[in-house]
Amino acid sequence: LPAKLPHTGTTIFTVMSALAAEHGAVNLGQGFPDFGADPALLQALTDAMAAGHNQYPPMTGVPALREAVAAKLNALYGSAYDPGSDITITAGGTQGLFTALQCCVGPGDEVLIIEPAYDSYDPAIRLAGGVPVGVPMTAEYRIDWPAVRAALTPRTRALVLNTPHNPSGRVATAQDLAELAQIAEQHDLFVISDEVYEHMVFDGAAHESVARHPALRERSFLVSSFGKTFHVTGWKVGFVAAPPALSAAFRRLHQYTVFTVHTPSQHALAAYLANPAPWQGLSAFYQAKRDRFRAAVAATPLKLLPCEGTYFQTVDYSAVSDLPELDFARWLTTELGVAAIPLAGFYQRPQERRHVRFCFAKRDDTLAEAARRLGRLA
Ligand code: PMP
Ligand code: GLN
Repeated sequence: LPAKLPHTGTTIFTVMSALAAEHGAVNLGQGFPDFGADPALLQALTDAMAAGHNQYPPMTGVPALREAVAAKLNALYGSAYDPGSDITITAGGTQGLFTALQCCVGPGDEVLIIEPAYDSYDPAIRLAGGVPVGVPMTAEYRIDWPAVRAALTPRTRALVLNTPHNPSGRVATAQDLAELAQIAEQHDLFVISDEVYEHMVFDGAAHESVARHPALRERSFLVSSFGKTFHVTGWKVGFVAAPPALSAAFRRLHQYTVFTVHTPSQHALAAYLANPAPWQGLSAFYQAKRDRFRAAVAATPLKLLPCEGTYFQTVDYSAVSDLPELDFARWLTTELGVAAIPLAGFYQRPQERRHVRFCFAKRDDTLAEAARRLGRLA
């Protein structure tokens, strides 16, 4: 076989979920809810199938869903996305990211990724023939703009932004987006903006979407996912919003990668989006879980890092162990019975830090059991 991604192993999420299952650990590793989706959404899916929505939809997605997505984006962020030309329904955020990167990256092109970085960016860039250039965040997990500027070269084509940020839980500020806009304009960069956690922002902060900033919007592929927002990660339905020229390029590739995405889910999501309450209430819902989980961890020697958004809590375990991150995550899973994700899985290079990530998108009884087990660290 031709050697594609020769240095890439199995994703850390798959590895840790398998280890958690093998050892009966409480799985706070891979990010997915362990509670059910809203029965109204499940009913909408059944209704869509019963109504006969079971054949190919239009290549770009079911029109009612594209209209609902554009209306929500435009109302929230003051953008003017056109559901006909600017919104494409994708097979989750992953395909949106992958196809967007294939669109704007060619052989030898460099793409800046802010590390720690979600693990699908690097291989997607490499498969396009590009070169991922990791730019470390600051020690406090803020985007290090001087480091971003220092990493620019004449070959830099694009930057991948992720806010709210997995795994650090940081949320980019308006100032961050202003910096990005300036750099992207000066160096004529595309921006791939991973906003899959757009509706999980805590303590009254606002999500700073590229859609809010006209200078960024015109050069950005905005990627999001209904899996995160509506507790259905297995449905794998998301969308990409981008101006007409970028969307046209995206759709040229999309039509020959997936062509279309699961029809009944799209009808169900379109109907469900008519009620804003589920996504409007998501931040409060996860903030309560965050607070419950942080209170439990605060009673252990694990040091809590800030969590401003997402459903992830990162901790520093250096008071407990000097094991490298992957070894510690394995130990925690097999010996203590709580699975976590080592932040080492989000970097191209080995790391000195002692940080692991927990997912708190779990039932309260699951979080209580995890807290009981983590309490043994005290
Ligand atoms: N980006 C980030 C930052 C994520 O955490 C995830 C989900 N783990 C994705 C993209 C992929 O989203 P999806 O599951 O919809 O493909
Ligand atoms: N996005 C999820 C996470 O960060 C997992 C997705 C996956 O398993 N690939 O945990």
